Formats: sequence, structure tokens, C-alpha cells
Amino acid sequence: MHFDVVIVGAGQGGAYAAIQLRQLGFEGTIALIGRESEPPYERPPLSKEYMLGEKEWERLLIRPADFWAGKGIELLLGAEVTTVAASERQVTLGDGRVVGFGELIWATGGDPRPLSCPGATLAGVHGVRTRADADAILGELSGVSRVCIVGGGYIGLEAAAVLRKLGKEVTLLEVLPRVLARVAGPQLSAFYEQEHRAHGVDLRTETGVVEILGEDRVSGVRLSDDSVVDCQMVIVGIGIIPAVAPLLLAGAAGGNGVDVDEYCRTVLPHVWAIGDCAAHASRFADGAVIRLESVQNANDMASCVAKAITGDPQPYGATPWFWSNQYDLKLQTVGLSIGHDATVLRGDPQARSFSVIYLKAGKMIAIDAVNSIKDYVQARKLVEEGAVIAPEDLADTSRPLKELPRG
Ligand code: FAD
Repeated sequence: MHFDVVIVGAGQGGAYAAIQLRQLGFEGTIALIGRESEPPYERPPLSKEYMLGEKEWERLLIRPADFWAGKGIELLLGAEVTTVAASERQVTLGDGRVVGFGELIWATGGDPRPLSCPGATLAGVHGVRTRADADAILGELSGVSRVCIVGGGYIGLEAAAVLRKLGKEVTLLEVLPRVLARVAGPQLSAFYEQEHRAHGVDLRTETGVVEILGEDRVSGVRLSDDSVVDCQMVIVGIGIIPAVAPLLLAGAAGGNGVDVDEYCRTVLPHVWAIGDCAAHASRFADGAVIRLESVQNANDMASCVAKAITGDPQPYGATPWFWSNQYDLKLQTVGLSIGHDATVLRGDPQARSFSVIYLKAGKMIAIDAVNSIKDYVQARKLVEEGAVIAPEDLADTSRPLKELPRG
């Protein structure tokens, strides 16, 4: 088998790369190789509407199942790429099949980081990355009254909100002093901690897990303070490990993901990497090499590679944005708050509609807007420009962000 473009990973970025190539008029052969058995689907609903039962499976599909064949995109599903021979321009699948490529796009995302404590593999301990993970959780829920969630990042918090709506007792553990510590400032963390507690979540910070208890199945969690939380299910949301081992073994540079340049090229000729697994120097992080885990980043990197392959290379510099839904709260984020040295609170968290604006050396670098769509929309341009606006003006909710005088 040989294809002009082989895309490894039939998830968000991989699917979008194939779609973009066709939209840009690419007429060569394309294979989209995915380890999961499902055609490409969106992951965000897995910890939101899908887990809640409000969105059925078909509505998660990125395109209808027959779209791919119609566009001449060969979908190879249930197929894992195990080795890459870069100089031969070949990948090998788990079943021994060899697939040749003209260009290779690596879009493999990552696997949930497992707990390293005893009991971590007991039945009833779940990550949330795939449809299979979500279905396993849903399949067990009727026999579960108490759930312990490990990790106070977005996935853990979203799962907590869903499980409370479904009437489960929820304990959420965060080892750091506050939830969302890696991605947001203290005001946002404090707000979400208060919201979850008000909705009945037993939320404990500075609390780690030392052991998952149980015989055949989880029955509890022993915590770092030696107390025990009884539960019949544990959901682990402590980040991902980028799925890049075959590519690094083939000689690509990287460690936490695979390193790419501003065109999403790896150091291997004709090999590109995009999405959650791609470590890139971001102008939104002062050039620091970071991985972004978001739909926006996967789609925009896919677009960047598709343009380069079709002869119109443009450096990747898309503005990061992200969202999270918890209870009736819609959080929308633009920019990256990494390295901020000041924050401005715009609006009143008690009113459950407000924004936190992040500044660095006076410049606006990011915003977290909670139930505040106007701020989110208007802040985009300001973040892209690195606008300098007096903090007292930013805090003045009587004036729209877009009308504030620049300093
Ligand atoms: P993925 O979509 O994960 O696709 C990678 C695919 O590659 C997977 O199907 C994987 O099985 C496959 N694969 C891995 N290794 C191999 C191999 N060797 N051979 C073949 N196939 C392989 N982002 C937001 O912006 N907003 C949200 O609200 C949000 N919520 C989320 C909620 C959940 C529960 C999760 C899990 C993610 C959420 N995200 C959200 C993140 C977003 O879904 C990811 O950033 C996005 O899916 C990344 O796309 P990707 O193509 O890099 O990886």
C-alpha cells in the first residue's frame, strides 16, 4: 500500500488535515489511519453532553460515516502504527501491514496519564479520552452511587458537574493548592471551587491519592492524609502522555511530544506533526515550546500542514482559544495566561458572569470569560494585539472592551 499522504491518528487533527487537503484541491491519495474503531469524532462532548446523555453518538462524528469514501480518503480503522521508517518513507501497522507515504502527518494525540499508585488498574478506574472510555463509565454508572475524581483540571471538573447532575455523590481530589492551577489564575480557580462545592461536590485540594482500594473492583481511595473515601468508581483526569513513541524511535526530536517548527515540520524529512502531540514554540508564550490540548490547536495546525503540502506554506501562529462547560457556566478563553504578572477582574463572580483578564508587562495576553460572551468576542483582537489598556478601564463593565482607550 502506498499513499501520497498518510495521516496517523483519525482524531480531531488528523480528520481536519484530510478535510483541509481536499478543500485546498489536493488530488493525491490520502490514508487516515486510526487506532480506534470509530470514524473520526469530537472528544469535548465525552465529558459534557455525551456523558450526560444529552447528545447521541452520531452527533459527535466530525463528518458523516460515508463522507470519507466520498472524498477519496481511505480510512484504515482499528489499525495502530507501531513503527516508522522515515528514510524508507514507510509505516508499519500492528498487524504487519506496511504503508508507504509521500508525506506523513502524525496526529496521534495522547493517552490518559495513569495513576502510579497500587490499585490503579482495578476495574472501575477510568480515564476519559475515547468513546470507549465514556461508554465504559456510562455502562457502569447505574450500579454506582459514589465517584471519586482524581484531578482538578477541565476534564475532572466537567465530569464532576455531569455526575452531580446525574445524582452521584462526587469527591474531587486535586494535589495542588487549587484547581485549574496549570491553566488559569487564582480568581478563576476560587470561583470554580466555590461553584462545585455549592453543587455538592466534596472538593479537596492539596490532597493526593496513595492507593486505590478494592478486591475485584474499586471500593475506595486512600488519600495522602491517610483518610479513605468510599466509592465504586474512580475517574482519573491528570493529563495525557503524548502518543509519539514510534516517531521518536524513528529519530524525531522531542520528549514531551514531538518537536515541530513553525510549519509543523518535525526534523524528519516529509514528516509533520499536529495537535495535542506537537510541541511548538508559541508566540503567545514568549516563544516557549509548549503543547496545546485544544480543538482549535488541532484544527489550525492541520490547516497549516495542509497549506504547506499544497504549496502555500504559512507559519503557524493561530490565536489559542478554548472552552469548558460546567453546570450552567460557559467558560471561554482566548490567549495563554502563562507568565502573566497581573490580573484584572471584570465583573462580579457572585453574579456568575465575569471575566479575568491577564496582563504581562501591561499588555493583555489572555482572558477567561465566564458566561460573558461579549468580553470573549471583543477580547480576541486585544489579545492578538497585546493591547495596553489601563486596569481601571478594563475593570469598568459599563463600557465594552472594544471601546476602551489604548494606552
Ligand atoms: P485526538 O483527537 O486525540 O486524536 C488522536 C487519535 O490518534 C486517537 O484516535 C488515537 O487513538 C489515535 N492514535 C494514537 N496513536 C496512534 C497510532 N500509533 N496509530 C494509529 N492511531 C493512533 N478541547 C477544547 O478545545 N475544548 C473542550 O471543551 C475540550 N474538551 C475535551 C474533553 C475531553 C473528555 C477530552 C478527552 C478532550 C477535550 N478537549 C477539548 C481536547 C481536544 O479534544 C483535543 O485537544 C483534540 O482532540 C486533539 O486532537 P488530536 O488530533 O491531537 O488528538
